[in-house]
Amino acid sequence: MDDCIFCKIAHGEIPSKKVYEDDKILAFYDLDPKAPVHVLIIPKEHISSAWDITEENSDIVAYIFQKAPQLAKELALEGGFRLVNNCGDNGGQTVKHLHFHMLGGRFMAWPPG
Ligand code: AMP
Ligand code: ZN
Repeated sequence: MDDCIFCKIAHGEIPSKKVYEDDKILAFYDLDPKAPVHVLIIPKEHISSAWDITEENSDIVAYIFQKAPQLAKELALEGGFRLVNNCGDNGGQTVKHLHFHMLGGRFMAWPPG
């Protein structure tokens, strides 16, 4: 996707503060953190949102959740963390490339605003 900012980050065309990378996913610090630790985990493949997860591409979601505990340990989130996907306008999605927010370092209120 030519005009997708997270595709550009995934391809190294826009810099990011990386915390983890492999051939399938990238994790990097959010520019505007909403918690003491706020990392975004994205698939390198462009998927616009959770609306577009299918039987064919859903393995990447399991993979992201599989990597989450390792990442949380590296980020010293022993107290727990929240892994959030915002989908669509009402979900608060602003970047149209599937991503999961890993938030931690403080207690997370529920329900969210
Ligand atoms: P969402 O609102 O769920 O779509 O989340 C998009 C997130 O991307 C927001 O928390 C932004 O602060 C973050 N963001 C946007 N551009 C960048 C960037 N270039 N580097 C890091 N985080 C970004
Ligand atoms: Zn993209």
